[in-house]
This record gives sequence, structure tokens and C-alpha cells, in this order.
Amino acid sequence: PPQLTGDFATLMEWVDKYRKLKVRTNADTPNDSKVAREFGAEGIGLCRTEHMFFEADRIMAVREMILAEDLEGREKALAKILPMQKGDFIGIFREMKGLPVTIRLLDPPLHEFLPTEDKDIEALTKTLNVTTQQLKHKVEFLHEFNPMLGHRGCRLGLTYPEIYDMQVQAIMEAACELVKNEGFSIVPEIMIPLIATVSELKELKANAVAVCEEVMASYGVKLEYLIGTMIELPRAALTADEIATEAEFFSFGTNDLTQTTFGLSRDDAGKFLPFYVETNLLPEDPFVTLDQNGVGKLVKMACELGRSTRPEIKLGICGEHGGDPASVIFCHKVGLDYVSCSPFRVPIARLAAAHAVLAGN
Ligand code: PEP
Ligand code: MG
Repeated sequence: PPQLTGDFATLMEWVDKYRKLKVRTNADTPNDSKVAREFGAEGIGLCRTEHMFFEADRIMAVREMILAEDLEGREKALAKILPMQKGDFIGIFREMKGLPVTIRLLDPPLHEFLPTEDKDIEALTKTLNVTTQQLKHKVEFLHEFNPMLGHRGCRLGLTYPEIYDMQVQAIMEAACELVKNEGFSIVPEIMIPLIATVSELKELKANAVAVCEEVMASYGVKLEYLIGTMIELPRAALTADEIATEAEFFSFGTNDLTQTTFGLSRDDAGKFLPFYVETNLLPEDPFVTLDQNGVGKLVKMACELGRSTRPEIKLGICGEHGGDPASVIFCHKVGLDYVSCSPFRVPIARLAAAHAVLAGN
């Protein structure tokens, strides 16, 4: 992996003496984790797990799970994925050598997993023992017109609890195994996406705690672990005091929070946002910089509300803004504990975090 050397490395040592914000990285693979560590990342702030479900060796099992007729069918399919998922987390924990790792449970819209090719549909009818017509009917039913506002994030965890149970089992088995056999210290941080209400989090947290306790008992290992949530919907920010009764940490998902606050698709924004910025309808691209009167205001409010319920709550950001220098300064001002950004932006985030202190913020 690329390394920081010479004057660059010296500069980074200097900035680290000043900054208060920790800098973590968004990484989903052992290789990304390694690159980020070379750049000075102090942990993983966001390990997205969705790409793991699309890998060639498991996508058919994922489809089988979604389209199965009953719980038994879903559990049978998930049992095929569990060992691979556990291997994913072992690789990442090992690479991070005991630094904090926040793993986010599955988030993409359900319909992204649906089969489209005839040969896959054909294969699934055999595994699931249903007719082509029955299968196509189910696929059609699960299709969504507005997937980013649909069946994703914690909603998946509530309607298909066995998916999150499998992931939590994989996380805890990976951690227990490393702690037991390789002498690691690991405090897994389990993050639940797209929470809008405290009752969603309460139910999912209870499920996760039950699985964590069961796995630890089976290994005879006692680990500390944290369960927290992303704050990425305006309602979550507005009710952060309630949500903090259940969350041990918040991580601001400012990509979705910007999308939902502005009511502006993050995937299509490039088509007309530049016009807004050029003509001063907006002072800056809100997907790049946290503006203090809009999305930033929600972040600030949620920090205050969260702390009012749970003063020791850990606060971070894992949206793209976590690697934008002006936004990093904003994050320092509102008192986040860490920012998390892509591996190659870690040095710039370290520098911006020091600037925030030196500028007297
Ligand atoms: C976010 O919404 O800011 C976030 C980090 O999650 P994702 O980009 O995966 O939706
Ligand atoms: Mg998100």
C-alpha cells in the first residue's frame, strides 16, 4: 500500500499534536483497512456490508433468502452466507489490530438483490421448489419505485430479522475467535442504519444484544461491544434525545441526511446542482460541505439532544463530509469525537482537524 514518508510524514506528526478530533476511515475490505492505517486512520468509522452480499460466491444464496417462502427457507440460505460473512469480519478485525471498528448492518434497498436474468430465475425456481410464475410474481411484488425511501436500512432488519441476526452472529463469532486464539482486544461497534424512530432501534438492539450474549456464552468469552445508530434522517436528528436512550453512539450519515433534508436525490444531484451553485441559489454544494444553516444545523441539534440524554454518547460522522476540510472544522466545533472518511482523505482530515484547533475554534 502507499505510505506516508519524508516531509509528509513529519507534517502529519506535527498536526497530530494539535488535533482533538480522531480520524477514522470508511473501509469495507482488509486491503482498504491496510491503506487507511498507513495514512494514519485510528479505526474504521463505517464498514459497509452490502458489497459482501453481492459477491459471486453468495449472491444466489442472498436471492434465495429474500425469495424463500418461509423462515426455514430463509435460515437455510443464511446458513450458507454466515461462514463467508464471518471470514469478512475476521479479515478486517485482523487488519485493524484492535483499533475500533464500526460495522454497519445491511442497508441497500431490497430490490437491488432481485434476480433479473432468466437463467438466475430458472435456477432459483429449482432451489426454492416454486414455479417460474410464482417466483416472478414475488420479484414483482418486491420491486420498488422509490427504493432510497423504501425497503432498506433498519426496515430490512425489522422485516427480515434473521438477516441482522446472521450478521451480528458473524461479527461476534469473528471477534470472539480472534480474542480467544490470537490475543486481540476488540470492542465491536454494531451500527444500525436509517433509524427514524426510537422504537425501531429498541427492537433491533434487543435482537442484537440477544445474539451477542448467545455467541459470547458459546465461546466462553466476555467482550465489550457497542450498539449505536446512524443519524441520517431528519426525524432521527429531531428526536435524537429519544434515540440516545437506546444508542451508545451516533454516526452522522450526512449523505442520506443531505438527500432527505433537501429532498434531493444524491444520485441525480449532479444534473442540476451545479446550476444552483453557479447562480448562487446555494452558496455551496451541500453534498460536499455541511452548511451550518441546514444539514449542519440538524447535526448540531442532534449532538446536543443526544448528549442531553446520554452525556457520554460517542459521536462521529461517516458521510462524505467527513473528508471535506471545511466540514471537518464544523465537526470539531460541534464537538464530535471523530470523523470518518475514505482512506485517501485521512491525511487531509488530520490536517483540517489540526487547523480547527489552531484557528482557535
Ligand atoms: C450516509 O448516508 O451518509 C452514509 C454514510 O451511508 P451510505 O452512504 O452508505 O448511505
Ligand atoms: Mg446512508
